[in-house]
Amino acid sequence: MSVLIVGAGFTGSVLSKTLRVTAPELTLTVWEKSRGAGGRQATKRDGEHSCDIGAQYLTHWQSDEFFQPYINVLKSTNVIHELKGNIINAPSKYEGNCVHYVAHKGMNSTSKYFLSGTNVFYGTRVTSLKMLNDQSNTSQIEVKNSEGRSAKFDAVVFTIPAPQLLEIDMDGKMAPETREDISKVQFTPRFSLMVVFDEAPEYDWVMKYHADDVVRFTVWDNVKRSHGLDPTLLIHCSALYAVKNTDVKTKEEVGQEMLVRLKELFPELPVPKKVIPHFWRYGQVYKPYPGSPGLVTINERPLILAGGDSFMETSNLSMCAKAAEILGDSLKDRFNIPKIPLREVHLK
Ligand SMILES: Cc1cc2nc3c(=O)[nH]c(=O)nc-3n(C[C@H](O)[C@H](O)[C@H](O)COP(=O)(O)OP(=O)(O)OC[C@H]3O[C@@H](n4cnc5c(N)ncnc54)[C@H](O)[C@@H]3O)c2cc1C
Repeated sequence: MSVLIVGAGFTGSVLSKTLRVTAPELTLTVWEKSRGAGGRQATKRDGEHSCDIGAQYLTHWQSDEFFQPYINVLKSTNVIHELKGNIINAPSKYEGNCVHYVAHKGMNSTSKYFLSGTNVFYGTRVTSLKMLNDQSNTSQIEVKNSEGRSAKFDAVVFTIPAPQLLEIDMDGKMAPETREDISKVQFTPRFSLMVVFDEAPEYDWVMKYHADDVVRFTVWDNVKRSHGLDPTLLIHCSALYAVKNTDVKTKEEVGQEMLVRLKELFPELPVPKKVIPHFWRYGQVYKPYPGSPGLVTINERPLILAGGDSFMETSNLSMCAKAAEILGDSLKDRFNIPKIPLREVHLK
């Protein structure tokens, strides 16, 4: 049986590993529209410089037993390590009962770890699906990408932000109620700014949260990841500022405003040598799919599923791992494969 996973973010990557290890009878392919893995855990690379511009850390809550084996395997393979250094004004929810982990090679290396060994096609955006029924009554899905090429699969699993599902032609298979519920999913947008200096002053913090209307968060990426390259500061704007400026200003205009505010917050900073803005239209889930069901079945036969943080209660990496397990179980149900969790066979 052939399965196409759409999206090489954390959900799609963990799902690919889950199926490769616990359902080897499935033939897996991943199509990812970007040039690399990680999705919203992106690590921007520009010449010799690199910087995490989306998710900053994996948080492991003491009470989260589910996520423990994922943390263990990423730690034991040296993909992640505990965050060292001061966090100033961290949100109170983080006080005392969790540990943050960061990735030396960039946050997207966690997705790359789980994807290793899977057939991934980058720069391949899914645009449409067509149901195929042959005379023997088995059915497949013909999936087309933005380059006009297509391939046939027995099942398709989407792990993309829910609003992006509505951009795909599903051959009339998405029920109107599902479409309506998907249109209720809301994300907060976010502008990020990567700022590289030749030299920078030493600070007694690695991350700082700000009560400012423009700048919400600053992190020294080179200190966080101990990569020894040029001082690199990453800035996230405030949620309100992002909402106000989405589709009003370009990311370059917003980047200039964020830079001006940065200079007001840290007048001692020198003039940067490189400034790269990024816009996250779909940042973190603000309103999930009604009822947070974990996944939705878009079509039964042939099977089309959609999952990821849009369908969970919260938008974080532990939830994405859970979403991957839910999707994996649903596929195994359909193809009569025993439901052995990845946590039990591989991530001990
Ligand atoms: C600025 C920011 C900061 C965050 N900070 C944290 C944090 O510190 N800790 C934390 O736990 N979480 C954080 N999050 C949330 C976390 O990043 C997400 O919950 C998680 O990365 C979602 O993973 P995913 O795989 O479900 O989705 P995505 O990462 O969105 O992956 C979906 C993938 O699908 C691809 N795709 C989309 N459409 C198509 C298509 N048609 N065809 C092919 N491919 C397609 C996309 O390119 C993408 O790679 C943050 C998010 C943002 C944006």
